[in-house]
Amino acid sequence: MKIGVLASQGAFAEHISTLEKLDTEAVPVRLPEELRGVDGLIIPGGESTAISRLMSSYNLTDEIASMARGGMPLFGTCAGMILMAKNISSNSTASFGLMDIKVKRNAFGRQVDSFEMELAIPALGEKPFPAVFIRAPIVESCDAGVDILARLKDGTIVAARQNNLLVTAFHPELTDDLRFHRYFLDIVSGES
Ligand code: GLN
Repeated sequence: MKIGVLASQGAFAEHISTLEKLDTEAVPVRLPEELRGVDGLIIPGGESTAISRLMSSYNLTDEIASMARGGMPLFGTCAGMILMAKNISSNSTASFGLMDIKVKRNAFGRQVDSFEMELAIPALGEKPFPAVFIRAPIVESCDAGVDILARLKDGTIVAARQNNLLVTAFHPELTDDLRFHRYFLDIVSGES
């Protein structure tokens, strides 16, 4: 199994090293030809407008969107989640427009722009997951076909899945907990 990590901008190196800890081949993707042979792709956190701009100038956006529509699993974290959403509230960032979620950027405001919390994620087992939020977006709403994987105590949706599409508002690659990446690899291998 070979996983690509979009390496235009942002926290791609951390995803690559997390995948390597799971004995999985991980390749940085900056150009369309680097998508060849990739079984799944991670869209990392960073600055969604910068990632979006770089992807379109390297002709990656349409290629990735069509591979995902054809069933290739995508895992978007933070800015990656923003790029995968069909709907971004009060923002015009071009995205893949793949997932039936509406997201809001920088949803926690300036005072609490970064925080870490233990999050209950039943799909990963009983032990809570250490979730790191950095100027994070939230999912404001989603359609019926979307499975909600995690919510904050106030009900805010921060992780979700729709078939081959997986998103988190937080950064699993910045912790030692490998379960979210393992969950994605199970989607790629068809086990989940
Ligand atoms: N605030 C960033 C954005 O709106 C996302 C932050 C992140 O990926 N850590 O694009």
